[in-house]
Amino acid sequence: MQTKVVKFGGSSLADAKHFKQVADIIHADPARRFVVPSAPGKRYKDDTKVTDMLYRCYEMIRNHESIDEYYKNIEARYNSIIEELGLDFDISGELAYVKNAMLHASGRDYAASRGEYLNGLILAKYLGFDFIDAESVIFFRENGTFDEERTNTVLGEELARHRNAVIPGFYGSMPNGTIKTFSRGGSDITGAIVARAAAADLYENWTDVSGFLMGDPRVLDHPPTIETITYRELRELSYMGATVLHDESIFPVREAGIPINIRNTNAPEDKGTMIVSSAEGYDKKRVITGLAGKKGFSVIHIEKDRMNAEVGFGRRVLEVLEDNEISFEHLPSGIDTMSIVVATSALEGRRERILNSITRLVKADLVEILDGLCLIAVVGRGMVKSRGTAARVFGAVYNAGVNVRMIDQGSSELNIILGVNEDDYEKALSAIFNEFVK
Ligand code: ASP
Repeated sequence: MQTKVVKFGGSSLADAKHFKQVADIIHADPARRFVVPSAPGKRYKDDTKVTDMLYRCYEMIRNHESIDEYYKNIEARYNSIIEELGLDFDISGELAYVKNAMLHASGRDYAASRGEYLNGLILAKYLGFDFIDAESVIFFRENGTFDEERTNTVLGEELARHRNAVIPGFYGSMPNGTIKTFSRGGSDITGAIVARAAAADLYENWTDVSGFLMGDPRVLDHPPTIETITYRELRELSYMGATVLHDESIFPVREAGIPINIRNTNAPEDKGTMIVSSAEGYDKKRVITGLAGKKGFSVIHIEKDRMNAEVGFGRRVLEVLEDNEISFEHLPSGIDTMSIVVATSALEGRRERILNSITRLVKADLVEILDGLCLIAVVGRGMVKSRGTAARVFGAVYNAGVNVRMIDQGSSELNIILGVNEDDYEKALSAIFNEFVK
């Protein structure tokens, strides 16, 4: 029989109504054996996530304010779920324990993690599944990094003892037993870790959208959903600003060759997006898989006669960036010019220093910083195989009257990166989208 690990995000578990949908989804497929819940998220636009309420409690305690009144809101969130589900489950003891522990300096991460912990208890009860506390199966090292090996062994052995179980997302424990969380949105990571330890056939990540769209719907006219995307394409897109899934959640499953399926709790019949390691065998309708863009880049532009003949030129320039702890994004160069694309924010407070150091170190004829660049990534595993893709991209942008300031075709042939003026971002993105999708 297959094993699927299913992770449900906060909006999928925000109230009793959503709990019911979640239970229907899980019960519809016996392969959905292991469930990783987030804490209750927003029920409506201006609602507050339970995780944020817990962080707030922590801050209040630090400021020596009483949390007595505020904590009641958290209790009410959980109690209303239990009541509306008609569950015979008294969570008041747990709630009192958590409050007391927070008051006795159990730490910021402990406070935040309780959102998932309490939600996991309720969900396990409701589903009739076992409860495995993440604290006892997900481990961090002394230096705070995730301890993959230990976790994989202990968690793998534990999962093997259960037919079905709920494992709360977002946290694990330090060697000294204290609780530590992943970064925000980290239940995605827990889901991937559980999928790997269970040697699952599929990691289903249930959220409130039906997968990844080809591009930003605020800019593009009804971008279609991506049916299949490779891990590498996804990395390119999410690096450029597309978000649905926590970045780090890809690695554990990718290594194990487990596909991820992004699904919509509110529309379970939608197939969502499949993330796979190799797209062979998956139909390939489009040349382009997705488009993403990001504003806020600058170009450090350097000119020097006979630059190409000078051994070590590039290294000396990059050393200046290294000394200033700046990582660069792209490095297009010409025979006597070199451009380094960096995030504008990284230059803050260091502009003069960088300009002076580069001028001095390589005796450049000209060094200047040009701001206001926006990068657009056109990503698609199909681009290698189809001729004329670049011509179509640049033709579309040209016809839209947009000037291209920089081009970088990644050596992976998985993407073409264009740099355009920030003001041209929307125009350029729409032009490329219309060329390939409409
Ligand atoms: N509840 C946590 C957060 O709000 C983790 C998660 O939902 O993945 O960031």
